[in-house]
Amino acid sequence: MYERILVPTDGSETAERAVEEALGVAEKFDADVQTLYVVDTDAVEVSLGAEQVDRIRAGRFGEMDDLEARAHEATEYVAEQGRERGIDVEEHFRGGQPHRVIANFADDHDVDLVVMGSHGRSGVKRMLLGSVTERVLRSTHRSVLVVDEREAE
Ligand code: ATP
Ligand code: MN
Repeated sequence: MYERILVPTDGSETAERAVEEALGVAEKFDADVQTLYVVDTDAVEVSLGAEQVDRIRAGRFGEMDDLEARAHEATEYVAEQGRERGIDVEEHFRGGQPHRVIANFADDHDVDLVVMGSHGRSGVKRMLLGSVTERVLRSTHRSVLVVDEREAE
């Protein structure tokens, strides 16, 4: 039923919970797993300036050590968890508006299930869903599994 699963991650604990569920589903359906970290260009624009933002959009943020480190830490976690279960995980890095990049990636790679957290790094938990998840739900026709930040009882 599912052949290709996408787990977008911002490195947050909630995203890590989503990783667990994504890998469980992948195991069951023998699906391949892609993980994607997006550098939010709107968020870094003020501090970095237009030129660096252009570089990030072009996927060349490897030159910016802190961004690269954060991105790798997030996706490496997914790859590591996958390895433990014998699942190959492909790591991807992009720059742009996270929800757009995630929805486009799902289309371009024929993803049939997106698994993501209800919340992320921002720490703002008053809303039912974080804005990235809410916008992904609004911008894709693909199936999305939203993993709640709270432990299941
Ligand atoms: P907000 O960003 O609206 O203040 P939040 O940080 O709590 O709220 P979201 O950003 O919507 O919530 O995060 C929900 C989920 O979306 C995360 O668990 C993760 O799966 C995914 N996600 C969020 N940001 C990114 C990103 N930059 N790259 C990849 N995936 C992301
Ligand atoms: Mn967020």
